[in-house]
Amino acid sequence: NIPTSRPKVCPSIEAWLAQPRPLLIDGKWVPALSGKTFPVFDPATGEKIADVAEGDAADIDLAVKAARRAFESGPWARMTPSERGRIIHKLGDLVLEHADELATLEALDNGKPKHVARAADVTLSADMFHYMAGWATKIEGKTISISALAAPGVDFFSATRPEPIGVVGQIIPWNFPLLMAAWKLGPALTTGCTVVLKVAEETPLSALRLGELILEAGVPAGVVNIIAGFGETAGAALSAHPDVDKVAFTGSTDVGRLIVKASAGNLKKVSLELGGKSPNIVLADADVELAIQGATAAVFFNHGQCCNAGSRLFVHRSIFDRVVEGVAAEAAKIKLGHGLNPDTEMGPLVSQVQYDRVTGLLASGRQQGATAVCGGAGVGGQGYFVPPTIFTNTTPSMRVVAEEIFGPVLVAAPFDDVDDALIAEANNSIYGLAAGVWSTNTAKAQSIAHRLKAGTVWVNCYHIFDAALPFGGYKQSGWGREMGQAVLNNYLETKAITTRLG
Ligand code: NAD
Repeated sequence: NIPTSRPKVCPSIEAWLAQPRPLLIDGKWVPALSGKTFPVFDPATGEKIADVAEGDAADIDLAVKAARRAFESGPWARMTPSERGRIIHKLGDLVLEHADELATLEALDNGKPKHVARAADVTLSADMFHYMAGWATKIEGKTISISALAAPGVDFFSATRPEPIGVVGQIIPWNFPLLMAAWKLGPALTTGCTVVLKVAEETPLSALRLGELILEAGVPAGVVNIIAGFGETAGAALSAHPDVDKVAFTGSTDVGRLIVKASAGNLKKVSLELGGKSPNIVLADADVELAIQGATAAVFFNHGQCCNAGSRLFVHRSIFDRVVEGVAAEAAKIKLGHGLNPDTEMGPLVSQVQYDRVTGLLASGRQQGATAVCGGAGVGGQGYFVPPTIFTNTTPSMRVVAEEIFGPVLVAAPFDDVDDALIAEANNSIYGLAAGVWSTNTAKAQSIAHRLKAGTVWVNCYHIFDAALPFGGYKQSGWGREMGQAVLNNYLETKAITTRLG
């Protein structure tokens, strides 16, 4: 099932891939100032699929200048909220119109199955734009009665006015290339900001195609600038740029720390969506079949390359063997293959670097004494395929238990009672992004949900995302929230205006 060469795609996509893909700066598609390009690979075969302009600090600077002009004086700054909302809505429509093409690019570039990209990544991206379009006309301030103690006897009228924060730098990872772009661009556009988006070097293609749709939707020149390039050059330049007002980052916790340091120069505002090592807890009274399906999807969806993957499974001892065997049986059915093969349920990891990282962690699990119930090593040969893996007989200090793996790897441990020790163990992580609880006693599940230190808790479900629901992390999983009304705070300043009356 694992291919040796890249399946053909439709001629228009082949033609698009055959040209070096340029950067979007000030409404124009341009090569990098250095003239450099870098290759992008199909992770299922290791073959090159395209060359992409390699933006660096000089291109970032041009893009920031364009975004500044567009913010201060372009048509964007004068547009009404309803005009802005209509453009963002149209962008959502265009994403759906080009769903097949975007899903194909995602499968080629990231490796994920095309049918999954179509059903999840593309659909949720369009929905994010549609949802955020509605907020454009609903961003409101308040009137506030003040006491003005220093000015007795004088009346004042005070109100707050939310205003766009300005020029925003956005840096995104490779695991959901289109969706991460939509999560970032949607709220920035609806609040009236302008953007320089730095896409991941592993997976720049779908966001560059989105840039074409952004122009087609009528977003004015300079409002969205898209730079492909490397983190240490383009990403670092964007997060340190003195004329960027805010940086929004999704990626690893280690790079999140670098972003915070780089942003200190001009004290730009920062929001961060970082890593996770999320606990998934199955109580003795759970619907066992539902929990097995849920635990499987929780960790293996997107090949485990989800910041919110349910990668630590805790199961009541009375049903531990049954649940682990059930998840292993489900894992055995998962078909590995090229993302463009319609039967494929799990593609390769995104890159050689990730393959080496994940297989290195698998080796550490075996060496530290964990038992691999299934999987346990890379497939080898062409492409970056790693089979679903479940480790038991683990201890909290093992690397596979403590570290985020970002691959299809589950660690499973039994527990005896729903007590403080279980909650402490579930919370025993530097991360706090997500968690799952499986029980037919919803009151008990709710009370556990309250005690878990996580930005999202799913009860009897997992991976349920919605543009209306805030998503983000406690602890070292991040600062701020994506999606929902909550994300608007990332992109707005609050101005208080007080007027003396009479
Ligand atoms: P990464 O942090 O290496 O890269 C993410 C982005 O940051 C890329 O665009 C990269 O070019 C850029 N970058 C790298 N070094 C930089 C630097 N010094 N300055 C500025 N930008 C830099 O992460 P990754 O390996 O691409 O993605 C995997 C990680 O992302 C995982 O740890 C995962 O948990 C996390 N992630 C989190 C979420 C979330 O919503 N919380 C979502 C997806 C991924």
